[in-house]
Amino acid sequence: MDACDVLIIGGGPAGSSCAWKLRHSGLDVAILDKQLFPRDKVCGGWITPAVLGELEIDPGEYAAARVFQPITGFRTGAIGGHAIDTGYAEPVSYGIRRREFDDYLLRRSGARLLEGVGLSSLERSGTAWIANGHLQARLVIGAGGHFCPVARLTGAKGKRENVVAAQEAEFEMDPVQQTQCRVQPERPELYFCSDLKGYGWCFRKGNYLNVGLGRMDQHRLTEHVAGFLRFLKSTGRMSFDVPSALLGHAYLLYGAWTRNPVGDGLLLIGDAAGLAYSQSGEGIRPAIESGLLAARTVLAANGRYSREALEPYRGLLAERFGKPGMGWATTIGRHLPSRWISALGRRMLSTRWFTRDVVINRWFLHSGEPALTN
Ligand SMILES: Cc1cc2nc3c(=O)[nH]c(=O)nc-3n(C[C@H](O)[C@H](O)[C@H](O)COP(=O)(O)OP(=O)(O)OC[C@H]3O[C@@H](n4cnc5c(N)ncnc54)[C@H](O)[C@@H]3O)c2cc1C
Repeated sequence: MDACDVLIIGGGPAGSSCAWKLRHSGLDVAILDKQLFPRDKVCGGWITPAVLGELEIDPGEYAAARVFQPITGFRTGAIGGHAIDTGYAEPVSYGIRRREFDDYLLRRSGARLLEGVGLSSLERSGTAWIANGHLQARLVIGAGGHFCPVARLTGAKGKRENVVAAQEAEFEMDPVQQTQCRVQPERPELYFCSDLKGYGWCFRKGNYLNVGLGRMDQHRLTEHVAGFLRFLKSTGRMSFDVPSALLGHAYLLYGAWTRNPVGDGLLLIGDAAGLAYSQSGEGIRPAIESGLLAARTVLAANGRYSREALEPYRGLLAERFGKPGMGWATTIGRHLPSRWISALGRRMLSTRWFTRDVVINRWFLHSGEPALTN
């Protein structure tokens, strides 16, 4: 029987941030991930500066060998409508490639890495957990993303979950494609669906292009994606076909949260707990912050991993992300007929103050929320 103090299932941003925070605690921490890193992850790869501060990432050191695209503006609008540009004097976000970013975070986490091994079983034995029949730990942290097996195996996953569904492709443009792409690297483009239930993005990171669309309902997602790609082509933003099939993924927004993040000897973090921002669908920052908050809880518990000892984690999540409520589009959608929403949405999205102050600053940049402090 192999043993560790804390076993983290999943080496994405949530799991590796939690391990990184625990690195000086003297605890023996292991991360188990079913994939070998570096691995691809379906994601836009857009992070806010708070993340760099919270994880003490030196931008110069990171950028020296990896894609790191500063963002100083946005082009936004409704699909099929006019777009407006919003600019900033300094970088307000960065574009990374998840293949590189996740590998970087995992390698520097300081944890023992068990890569290419999926969690196949998790059983309780006294006050310990036995994973895959031979790996023993008193505390298990589920960081396996939306389909985290820990959430499933322990029954924390809700029975009816309203997910956001998205499709995305990321590829390196060849020289001809580069001339046929009018999206500026420092100014990603975001276009909202007319019912405001989702948006598409086209985001250039150096010579890599990331294009995709996510929606709060999964109904006719492929049609919405096809319509968005036609729109990009007809407006000359990207005058060529995406060379590979778009990959799909689904995950929970915090507003629709139904998962219990705390159990006996158990915590859930990141997408496993359903923490992505309800307005934008961004989940990297909540994944990292929940990993850090989980680590804070574990350190304060001082070797006691009962449900009661770990319960403060639930309060830290509510303090940080607010009480779970409904997302903005769902809230609007409950009270207004769809043709009103469409008309209102187009009107608002063509208004400069609404775009800058509400859509970008509040919904996407979360500029009013300072970084977590230690
Ligand atoms: C199309 C799309 C675009 C997005 N764009 C953005 C964006 O631009 N910015 C942003 O902030 N967020 C974005 N998100 C959300 C973001 O990708 C997630 O919220 C974030 O990856 C959550 O991190 P995590 O560590 O919780 O989970 P993940 O990143 O999903 O990591 C989970 C890890 O667990 C491992 N795992 C899974 N099952 C097992 C198992 N059985 N055994 C062992 N290991 C397992 C996986 O291999 C994986 O490495 C996007 C999501 C989608 C779908």
